Amino acid sequence: MSAAAALAPAPAWPSLADEPAPWDAAPRGEAALAARWFAGLRAPARVEDGRSLRVRFPGVPAPGHGPDARDAVVELDGAELRGDVEFHLRASGWRAHGHHRDPAYARVVLHVVEENDGGALATLHDGGRAIALAVAPRPAVPPPAFEPPCAACARLAPPDAALERLGLERLREKASRARHWAAARGPAPVLHALALETLGGRRNREAFAAIARRLPLPALLERAPAAPAEGRTEALAAALREAARGLPLSRRGLRPAAFPERRLEALAALCARLWPDARPVWPEALADPAAAPRALRVPGIGAAAALELTVNAVLPAALGARLWPADEAIARFRALPAPAAYGQLRPLAGWLGGGGRDPFARAAALQGGLRLHDRHCARGGCGACPLSAPPPRACGIAREGGE
Ligand code: SF4
Repeated sequence: MSAAAALAPAPAWPSLADEPAPWDAAPRGEAALAARWFAGLRAPARVEDGRSLRVRFPGVPAPGHGPDARDAVVELDGAELRGDVEFHLRASGWRAHGHHRDPAYARVVLHVVEENDGGALATLHDGGRAIALAVAPRPAVPPPAFEPPCAACARLAPPDAALERLGLERLREKASRARHWAAARGPAPVLHALALETLGGRRNREAFAAIARRLPLPALLERAPAAPAEGRTEALAAALREAARGLPLSRRGLRPAAFPERRLEALAALCARLWPDARPVWPEALADPAAAPRALRVPGIGAAAALELTVNAVLPAALGARLWPADEAIARFRALPAPAAYGQLRPLAGWLGGGGRDPFARAAALQGGLRLHDRHCARGGCGACPLSAPPPRACGIAREGGE
């Protein structure tokens, strides 16, 4: 157990307690039920199969198709469950909305309703998997807003240094992974593979990684060795499309510019820019760390995507292969602005910000936020994470001994 954990034992999410008051004072609807869940679900809740429920982390709101909350951590009779949560006013909404046969709901571990109108003991998905069904009647008054320990700490001192430290750890981890690849394949193919993973995004990362395995950089460049500039991009795009054939590519929830076929076209343009001939060597355009984000701007890759590529592909590959002086590369990383806000970090941004301040304005802090979310928030780490140590330890800022 870390020092922080010893100082601040992980609290349960706010306890479930009756709150008698005029019934109609509380807002209605699924959105209100979801708001209560994220605020701490203080209304009485029971699990229909008799188990006790403890919410360790409510997950992250997930608008759009799919479950309402992702990456929640709950305990049922003391047994930890991690996964998604779905809300309905009535339990019958699950089948009425077709969730029982929708693979997007395969990770749901808890179904929270205000009324169990069918009287079932559990909610069923697909081949009969039983999902815990919790009934949380609408409370009389809206619950007070929940605050995890990091919010109070952030008010005492902004957690910028701690976030940057976590971001640097994340970068070094990626560079270490790239180092092993680069030793076997050379730095340029690693850069190409990481660029594919980055452009694939969350939805298509696995499929794009498969494209890199099917068509590594040397093989890709051989497919368009001497074509004129304008024809070369198209030849590269055709080769990438062919390599993608049969892979499970998804457009769901993506804006058109992020559709997989558009991303492959953008990658073809980037490859034509970085590798003007068939030699799979480290690109001349990326010899200088300072030039990286600008060198990556091609049709289909705007300023935000170029920053994503710099952080997730160029820096790890260059650091892993020791192509750039480490101090200079890390100084560049620290200076980079954040590419774009990530939906899963929105609650954390609210807790760690304040007064309109964006705690993830720098790329390093954003990477730190992602690490924090994955390793702590989504694992029920409130009270034991690096940002929730109480004063006078300055809420993790003074901690140097790792997470
Ligand atoms: S685990 Fe996440 S939400 Fe909880 S206190 Fe730490 S940073 Fe905040």
